[in-house]
Amino acid sequence: MLKGLAASEGIGIGTVMIIEDRILDYTPKTVTDTKAEIKRFNDTVDTFCEIAEKKVEALKITAGKKEADIIKGHIVMIRDPYLISETEKHISNGECAEEAFANICDMFESIILSSKDELTRLRAADIRDIKFRIMSLLLGVKEIRISEAPKGTVLVAKELTPSMTAGIVKENIEGIITETGGLASHSAILARALEIPAVLNVPNAVGTFKHGSPVIVDGKDGTIINCPDNKQIERYTKKKIDFLKVHKELEKFRGKRTVSADGKNFDLFCNIGKPDDIFRALYYDGEGIGLFRTEYLFMDVDSVPNEEEQFEAYKQAAVMLNGKPLTIRTLDIGGDKEVPCLKLKKEINPFMGLRAIRHSLKNRELFKSQLRAILRASAFGNIKIMFPLITCTEEIEEGKAVVEELKAELRDRKIDFDEDIKIGIMIETPSAAVAADILAKKVDFFSIGTNDLTGYTMCCDRENSDVSYLYSVFQPSVLRLIERTIRYAKDNNIPVGICGEAAADPMMIPLLISFGITEFSVSAPFVLKARRCISTWTKKKADAVAKQVMQLSTESEIREYLSSVISC
Ligand code: PEP
Ligand code: MG
Repeated sequence: MLKGLAASEGIGIGTVMIIEDRILDYTPKTVTDTKAEIKRFNDTVDTFCEIAEKKVEALKITAGKKEADIIKGHIVMIRDPYLISETEKHISNGECAEEAFANICDMFESIILSSKDELTRLRAADIRDIKFRIMSLLLGVKEIRISEAPKGTVLVAKELTPSMTAGIVKENIEGIITETGGLASHSAILARALEIPAVLNVPNAVGTFKHGSPVIVDGKDGTIINCPDNKQIERYTKKKIDFLKVHKELEKFRGKRTVSADGKNFDLFCNIGKPDDIFRALYYDGEGIGLFRTEYLFMDVDSVPNEEEQFEAYKQAAVMLNGKPLTIRTLDIGGDKEVPCLKLKKEINPFMGLRAIRHSLKNRELFKSQLRAILRASAFGNIKIMFPLITCTEEIEEGKAVVEELKAELRDRKIDFDEDIKIGIMIETPSAAVAADILAKKVDFFSIGTNDLTGYTMCCDRENSDVSYLYSVFQPSVLRLIERTIRYAKDNNIPVGICGEAAADPMMIPLLISFGITEFSVSAPFVLKARRCISTWTKKKADAVAKQVMQLSTESEIREYLSSVISC
């Protein structure tokens, strides 16, 4: 069993077709008739554009306008006057068209790859793609025709370029496996647009799989089974049927607003850890980001990201969301979240120690660099700031004072930011929930973090199997704290969301609707499921369930009752 990056959901069961890079060898030769060589190059560019135009039309039908625009972009790139004139200049100096064009493309590629912006770096694939096409035409090498792949094909390639995939016959391709590519790569975007299961970033995939051998691709968890046995084929065939059934049902909710059965609108956002996760959030139809866990930017790195690096990440996220809300939570470290680059002091009881907002307030420079980066990024989108693990008013006031100080500094420096940026807090400690009536007067919004709220309320660590039986959001005490938090938010006219895992729990959804929640923020794959579930409830029906639940006295009674009334 192999693992890769799960880039497009679904199960594919089929036969491997290896797409190998053809070697485009040429012997550089000096040309004397440079005029004729320039004409040969320009004719080739014209042919490339003609073929590309046809691919654009094909993609519009198979994958949609957005994907067709990728190939349209190639036409714009190849017609770039600088690229053309530089190639012509090299040819005028005696280089053959192949050598001249390859050198210019390599130069473009290295400029793109030196960019700090990951999205820009990903565009190097376009240059490689264009280079490959033009060189194939110049050398008269035949293109690989993925369009001729038979039914049940699983494509295995180093990298699938947009023009390779342009001719894909969706019905014939069971899956895609590549050696490179992230969630934002063309292979991933196209696979998702065509709804083909895809697993990317599988080292040495081309060398590992054999042309014509059977394979299973699970695009949901990134698993690949090379030469599966009958039992595995049977198991995955069932998984595939189930997936397709649920998928069909859920797809009806894509692109729709999140509305309850009695017409009340809700916001349905996603939780993310890195800007790249936004691709996933948008793919699953999230309406914005309700929780950006910024601590992930500080994990798996050798040094602490500076203000500039953070600014780039927050700005990238804001730009990608194109006006949709983005709630950025300041560093939530400590407890179970270790961040080696910050060299945190060892504590006897880290869950009760200097974590989250406490750490930020004690480490002002770090806090300020993060807030400055967020404020600067707020000029590029719809950003909100959220403080984690708040327990009392003083923490809010101190945090807000730092924001005010930085706003004044940025004004002096004439740097743009959103003057009205909203500041909210996580309600994830019993203290904050109990004092919600006081805290609601100090902030613009609440977001309930049921993961920590449950642990702190029940005084139990969910990873500790001896006490994990206590860890349940359906404990009467936890439900009372949630209900109270929402009630006080409503009394004070501030929006209240939920971003803990419970937000996507079908048993929790009617209770939240009844209590008056306004926003759900869930892991991306749960968006459509949550939207469907919310659509089945009216306030009246949810109130009846909540009333009954709040009269029960044990977690098991509550669970038992809820499972008897839940159908979504
Ligand atoms: C929570 O505690 O519910 C929450 C959303 O925060 P995290 O899971 O990041 O601690
Ligand atoms: Mg938390």
